[in-house]
Amino acid sequence: MQTHKTKVCIVGSGPAAHTAAIYAARAELKPLLFEGAMANDIAPGGQLTTTADVENFPGFPEGILGIEIVEKFRKQSERFGTKIFTETVNKVDLSSKPFKLFTDSRTVLADAVIISTGAVARRLSFTGSVEFWNRGISASAVRDGAAPIFRNKPLVVIGGGDSAMEGADFLSKYGSTVYIIHRRDTFRASKIMQKRVLSNPKIEVILNGSVVEAYGDEEGKGVLGGLKVKNVVTGAVSAVRVAGLFFAIGHDPATKFLEGQLELDDDGYVVTKPGTTKTSVAGVFAAGDVQDKKYRQAITAAGTGCMAALDAEHYLQEIGSQELRVIREDVGERPIIIKFGQVVRADPVTVFREKPESERQTRNKWSPTEDGVLISAWLNTNKEPNVGSNEPRAAAFWKRIAAYYSLSPAVASLAKREWNHCKQRWQKINDSVCKFVGYYDNALSQRSRGQSEDEVLQVAYDNYFNYYKCRFTLEHAWRKLRHDPKWRSYYMSQNSKTSGSSKRPKLNEVVTVSSSSNTESNVEELAVSRPVAVKSPKLKEKIVVTETTTNEEERESNPRSKLEKLWALNEKDIVERNKLSRIELLRSLLEKTGKLSEKEEALKNKLIDEML
Ligand SMILES: Cc1cc2nc3c(=O)[nH]c(=O)nc-3n(C[C@H](O)[C@H](O)[C@H](O)COP(=O)(O)OP(=O)(O)OC[C@H]3O[C@@H](n4cnc5c(N)ncnc54)[C@H](O)[C@@H]3O)c2cc1C
Repeated sequence: MQTHKTKVCIVGSGPAAHTAAIYAARAELKPLLFEGAMANDIAPGGQLTTTADVENFPGFPEGILGIEIVEKFRKQSERFGTKIFTETVNKVDLSSKPFKLFTDSRTVLADAVIISTGAVARRLSFTGSVEFWNRGISASAVRDGAAPIFRNKPLVVIGGGDSAMEGADFLSKYGSTVYIIHRRDTFRASKIMQKRVLSNPKIEVILNGSVVEAYGDEEGKGVLGGLKVKNVVTGAVSAVRVAGLFFAIGHDPATKFLEGQLELDDDGYVVTKPGTTKTSVAGVFAAGDVQDKKYRQAITAAGTGCMAALDAEHYLQEIGSQELRVIREDVGERPIIIKFGQVVRADPVTVFREKPESERQTRNKWSPTEDGVLISAWLNTNKEPNVGSNEPRAAAFWKRIAAYYSLSPAVASLAKREWNHCKQRWQKINDSVCKFVGYYDNALSQRSRGQSEDEVLQVAYDNYFNYYKCRFTLEHAWRKLRHDPKWRSYYMSQNSKTSGSSKRPKLNEVVTVSSSSNTESNVEELAVSRPVAVKSPKLKEKIVVTETTTNEEERESNPRSKLEKLWALNEKDIVERNKLSRIELLRSLLEKTGKLSEKEEALKNKLIDEML
């Protein structure tokens, strides 16, 4: 079984399905289309494959063969990128989103579905019914009745409902006499239709009649010449000379596989909201004969196919679901996410909804330069107690980072980033880099002789991709962070805290400081666990508390204690680096042409004071 994901899945292969596919493909919705494998006993291409000439479809003044026109429909769908499978959809699950469609060998997850499986005209079977099919016998009076071979000739309509009455009325304009043959003694058509037919001098009614045979014309042209009709009450058989026979005994819409999933009417047709192709399930649309009892023409099917594609496109825009990304399908093993000491297993199938393309563009992607400045801002910003302020500490911390970021000349000409954007981006960077570090360290520890640096990196990349099913794209951030003592200590402290030991994370047990797992609390953790250039009093206090609860021996073997010793050694170095970056910042402020903003002026003065 293969699983596919798509924005739009179209079921059917007649004019409705292909018109929908052409429109959806041109709207870049990359539709998948199931054309059926003799579904409903009709070849891919639909009902038109069962007719010789199509003479009423615009664009073909000379007429066109049914199989030729459907081949053209198909080619046009493919030209714009529709993926076509010659398979029949035999089951659907429209109860939850994404919708699921099943064939014998495939499952499709779709944001929107267009049903255009058509309908089949019911036919009766008797001697000659196949021989004279399309040679005088037809399933549509309205479509075929005006053909020259039927002009001024006696014709027959079989049926007793409204469509039989309508057909007879229509044929009476062309035929010399029109017989309505019905096997019961009363019609089930509406009274008004019956009245109209019975008052038409060209129409004659044969009740209790059943056609038992069709025979050829006297000239031997091989077309229908007459019928033998049996009286079902008396058993008497009589001959009726006719040139045309039209079945009007109803249609069977191809909707068996939709039962219980969509609202269908008493005859099995998909119910649509008038004037639209919307069905009873939002996101599922129906087009063509499967929802149309009245017109049943190739052109009307194509028209509603177009409507369905536009309705689906509109729906997708509305739900903001242009892109669905399914990951970890059938991975078997569920990823482990460690959130501050708690091991949480993610769902086996996780569906992430991405923002629509349009929205993503306006959000301005972060460039590596911006990431670099943000990382510097994080590394150089300490969490200080916000004495005398009612603002939450985390917010104050991120506002200072945003202020630092905005002052960098490297991003001066780029889009402004608010503090919460900085925070979200940092969390994303940190999350991905934390995961990647685990894979990199692992690849490094298993490095074989002669394996180059690049090859180790590639192994880390591959393992990351194999597990998360997406590429690691933040190498620039990883390079900047991986040797930084402050970040490394944060990473290590998280790791030792969550794993309960000093061990490195195992493959697939990478510490995840995911954006979903951390918000304010993460910032607090960060402030407590990192070695800071200038320790805040509160931080010092917290570290002391931790130490008093640990005995000397444990502390010796505790990687965190070891790290703290290392940090102490590096502290001078860090202070120097911090100083340098502040000098750099001051220089950029002093060199800035034009008037400084109020914030910039304050920062400049603060930095000068510090230097002095
Ligand atoms: C003999 C004949 C002659 C006709 N001549 C004309 C004419 O000259 N001009 C005109 O305008 N109209 C004509 N029509 C009517 C016209 O063919 C239909 O109105 C039109 O084809 C309906 O198109 P549709 O897209 O709704 O579906 P259809 O053409 O009915 O196609 C539906 C397709 O969906 C497939 N399908 C069904 N179920 C599934 C499933 N579960 N999974 C996958 N696929 C599935 C079917 O196999 C079929 O191929 C004729 C009809 C007939 C029977």
